[in-house]
Amino acid sequence: MKEKAPYPTDQETLDAEYSPSRMVESLDDYLEEYAACSQPPSPGAFKNAQFGLKYGPHKRQVLDFFPAQSNGLGAQPRKPLVVFIHGGFWSALDGTLFRFPAPYVNEADVHYAALTYRLAPEATITGIVEDVRTAIRWLAENAQDLGIDPDGIALVGHSAGAHLAAMVIADENAPQLAGALLISGVYDLDPVQKSYVNNDAKMSETEAKALSPNLLAPKARCPVHICVGDIEPEEFKRQSQLMFDAWQPHCPDMTLQVMGEKNHFDILFGLMAPGSSLLLRAIECAVGRKCVTDQCAMHGYVEADMFARERAMFQMPDDVIYLDGNSLGALPKAAPARVAQVVEKEWGDGLIRSWGDADWYGTPLALGDKIGRLVGAAPGQTAVTDSISVNLFKLVCSALEMRPGRRTLITEENNFPSDIYVLQGIERFWPGVDLKLVGRDGTLDELLDDTVAAVVLTGVDFKTGANHNMAAVTEQVQAAGALMIWDLAHSAGAVQVDLDGIGTDMAVGCTYKYLNAGPGAPAFLYVAERHHAAAQNPISGWFGHKDPFAFSTDYEPADNIRQFLAGTPPIVSLAALEASLDIWEGVHMPSLRAKSMSMGDLFIEMVEALDPAYGFKLASPRRADKRGSQVSFRHPDGLAIMRALIERGVIGDFRAPDILRFGFTPLTLSYSEVWQAVQILDDIMKNETWRTVQQDRGHGVT
Ligand SMILES: *Cc1c(COP(=O)(O)O)cnc(C)c1O
Repeated sequence: MKEKAPYPTDQETLDAEYSPSRMVESLDDYLEEYAACSQPPSPGAFKNAQFGLKYGPHKRQVLDFFPAQSNGLGAQPRKPLVVFIHGGFWSALDGTLFRFPAPYVNEADVHYAALTYRLAPEATITGIVEDVRTAIRWLAENAQDLGIDPDGIALVGHSAGAHLAAMVIADENAPQLAGALLISGVYDLDPVQKSYVNNDAKMSETEAKALSPNLLAPKARCPVHICVGDIEPEEFKRQSQLMFDAWQPHCPDMTLQVMGEKNHFDILFGLMAPGSSLLLRAIECAVGRKCVTDQCAMHGYVEADMFARERAMFQMPDDVIYLDGNSLGALPKAAPARVAQVVEKEWGDGLIRSWGDADWYGTPLALGDKIGRLVGAAPGQTAVTDSISVNLFKLVCSALEMRPGRRTLITEENNFPSDIYVLQGIERFWPGVDLKLVGRDGTLDELLDDTVAAVVLTGVDFKTGANHNMAAVTEQVQAAGALMIWDLAHSAGAVQVDLDGIGTDMAVGCTYKYLNAGPGAPAFLYVAERHHAAAQNPISGWFGHKDPFAFSTDYEPADNIRQFLAGTPPIVSLAALEASLDIWEGVHMPSLRAKSMSMGDLFIEMVEALDPAYGFKLASPRRADKRGSQVSFRHPDGLAIMRALIERGVIGDFRAPDILRFGFTPLTLSYSEVWQAVQILDDIMKNETWRTVQQDRGHGVT
C-alpha cells in the first residue's frame, strides 16, 4: 500500500472535501446569494460553497471566487486578490485541487480565485489564452462589486498556467497587476510539438510565436517571480531559465528561484499546502510585500497562518519561543479549569459515583477514539492507558503469543532507548526470545526471516526527525509473517498517520508530546480490530476484565480494545488530555502536516542562509516529506549553543553527542517565532556568547 500523500490527490478525497459545484449565472445572482447569508460565510464555508461564477458567454468560462475572511465583498477597504491559473494536466482532477489554497489565502484577508476553465466538457484548448485574459479583465472590471483592490491583483500560474499568466501580464488590455508568480513554467509553441495553447493547430505559426514568453517579455508590466525545481525535467528547467533571461531586462524586480530537490509536482503540491512559502509569496505580491526573509514578510506568515485560532487556545510565556513541544507540549488554556472541575466537582462532590455519573469508566476508550481520528484509526481500536513503555510490553508479549514458534524481536539501534530497554527486558524474562537491532545487527532486510515475531519501529526518529515509510515497512514486515508495531511518539499530532490504511497490527503513542496533555499524561495503544480475539494482554488487570465491578475470581478479558487496560485509569490526567483533544478535534490533519513541513523548510532555509562559518550541519532529511515535525542540526559545540539559546528564551533541546533539536508544533507555533529564533541563533553565533555560558550540567537543557 502506498503511504498517503500529505495533500489530496485522489478524486475520492476531493469529492469528500468539496460539495458539488453550483453554477452562478451572473455576478448579480452571486452578490444576491452572498448578501442573503444571514451570517457572512467563513472561509471554511466558502470552501464548500464553490460558486462557479461565470465570467463570459462560454460554458467553460467559469471561475471560483472565494472572498477574503473579512467578507470584503463590496466592503471598504477593498482587498487584494490572488488568482490561480492551473496547467494542462489538471483537467483530470477537474481543477478541484486549486480550491485548496482558498481558506489559507482568505485567512490572510485576501480574496482568492481559481480559474476552472477546464471543467467544462466542451472546453477546447485553443480558447484558453483568451479565456484567461478575459477572466482577469472581468475581475478587474467588477472589482468594485467584488470588493477587490484593483492595485492588488496577483497571478499564480503553474506549468502551462505559468505561460498563460505570462500572456496576461503582457496583455495591454489587462489591468495593471501587482505581481505574478510563474511556477515551473512550461511553454511550447513549436507547431511541430503542439502545445497546450495551440494543440489543435488552429493558431498560425506567427500567432503562436507572438505568444512566446520571450517575445512577450518587453511588454512585462509587473514584478515577476519565477521558480522551478532542481529535479524537474531538463526541458522545464531550461524553459524557466530562458523565460527569466528574456524577461529580466524588462522586469527589474524579477527573481528566479531554484527549489532544491523538488520536481514539477512537488512544487505544485507544496504550493497547495497552507503555509507554503510560495503561496505566501503570491499573497505578498498581492499585498505589495516583497520577500520572505524580512520581518514585514513574516507578518504575512502570521496573518496567513490558518491555525492562529488554535494557537490562541494555548498558554505560552511571552518571553519564550518554544521549540520543544515535541518533548512536552504546551498547556491548553482550558485544561486548568477542566482539571479543577474533575477534582472539585467530579471527585470532590461526586466521589465514587463519578465512575458512572461522569463516565470516568468510559473515558479511556472515548478519548482513544478521539486520538484515533488523528492517526487514521476507526473507532474501537484505540485506548488511552499507561505509558508507552508499559503498553509496548503488553503489545510485544501479545505478539509473541500470536506468533508461536517465532522468537525473534526486531527494533532499531536508533530507537528511543525506553523502547529498546523494554524489549531487552522481555528478552531477559521470556525464554528463547532474541532481540535484534537494525543498525547494529544488520538491515531490516537482512534480519527479517521466519523466526521474527514482531518488529517495533518508531515512525519519526527522535533524534534526526527522519520518517519511516510506514506503509512500505508494514507491508514488508507482514509479508515476512511478523507483526508490525509502530511507536507514534513523534508522529501523533505531528505528521499524517493512517493506521487503518497502512494495515499495521498494533501501535503505541504519546499524549504529552504533540498532543499537549501534560507531564506524565497516559499514552495510547492501538490494536487492529482483526486481532481483538487473538491478542491477549499479559498484564491482565481488572480494568481489562469483561466486567471489572463483578469482582469475579477468574480473569476474563473484555472482548474489545478495553482488554488492553490494566489498572485504574488516571482520571485527573485524562481531564487535561480531554481539554487538549477538544482543540485537536477540529484540526484538519493535512493542513497541520502542511504547516509542519513549511515551518521546517523555513527554519532550514534560514539557518543555512546564516554565515557558513558558524558550522551548522543539517542532521534531518532535507525533504519535508521525509521528516517529521522537527529539524536537527549538528554542531560540535551544540550543548553550549543550546544553553545560550535557552538563556535567550529559545527552548529547544540537545541530544548527545552533537545534535541540536528543534521541534515545530504546528498548532502552537507561529512563523514569526521561527523567524525570531533564527535571528537569536545568528546573534549568539555572531557574538560568540555561547562560549561564555555556564558549561556545567543542569542548565536547563533536557
Ligand atoms: C517519548 C518517547 C517514549 C516515552 O514513552 P513513555 O510514555 O514515557 O514510556 C517512548 N518512545 C518514544 C519513541 C518516545 O519518543
